Amino acid sequence: LVTIQDVEKSYGHNEVLKGVSLEVNAGEVVGVLGPSGSGKSTLLRCVNHLEDVDRGEIRVDGVLVGYREHRGRLHELRPKEVAARRRDIGMVFQRFNLFGHLTALENVVEAPLRVRRRPRAEARAEAMALLDSVGLAHRADAYPSQLSGGQQQRVAIARALAMKPKVMLFDEPTSALDPELVGEVLGVMRRLADEGMTMIVVTHEIGFAREVCDRVVFMADGVVVEQGPPSQVIDAPQHERTRAFLARMS
Ligand code: ATP
Ligand code: MG
Repeated sequence: LVTIQDVEKSYGHNEVLKGVSLEVNAGEVVGVLGPSGSGKSTLLRCVNHLEDVDRGEIRVDGVLVGYREHRGRLHELRPKEVAARRRDIGMVFQRFNLFGHLTALENVVEAPLRVRRRPRAEARAEAMALLDSVGLAHRADAYPSQLSGGQQQRVAIARALAMKPKVMLFDEPTSALDPELVGEVLGVMRRLADEGMTMIVVTHEIGFAREVCDRVVFMADGVVVEQGPPSQVIDAPQHERTRAFLARMS
């Protein structure tokens, strides 16, 4: 469903992605581990075309992200077209980036209403159902500042799901949370995985990666060092860098 092929990305002279390839199948949950600065966030941002790539290409469901092919060459899409293709891709960031002036329900309803042009009553009903599915129907009218970090992050997940994405990208969705709030967010993600959502999850939660991810990718210095089932990459890593990283995590 997601095909990342030989992607390279630099910021100035800083080569952040040095040829990353990754395939994610429909329904698969892929965890991305790696030290700070290894390019994990940059990779997710490229998949969502929040960054353009210098080389290589990314497809979601066969469709190029951010570019259009014409006579064998790639051309940048216009912002409107980029936004249209981004609808298939849900993203949840480390920092809950809800709209502070909108309630939980309004946050979830906003994009389907405006972008998908859904009738208001339908969009509201769907948004309520989504809030319910993340355990927050009773907080629908609360503003983000009135919610805990864990609740805000669950609203952010509901908001991303409201666009009915084909794939969900998570960039350390629990690392800004107080420890006692991590579980409720991971619980929502776990259920999403069980329901068959395709997910790419950058995380430092080794337990979650081991239990929920079908495959784990270890990145360092802008390359994929190794990947495989968690039983292999986490419990029997082949590469010294993976071993050193995991040793520091535990
Ligand atoms: P972390 O675990 O700390 O989140 P990461 O693996 O997500 O790290 P990235 O955020 O992808 O790492 O950053 C990789 C490198 O790219 C770092 O050296 C960072 O300084 C650089 N970088 C990231 N974003 C930008 C930017 N917008 N402009 C310039 N350099 C950037
Ligand atoms: Mg990051």
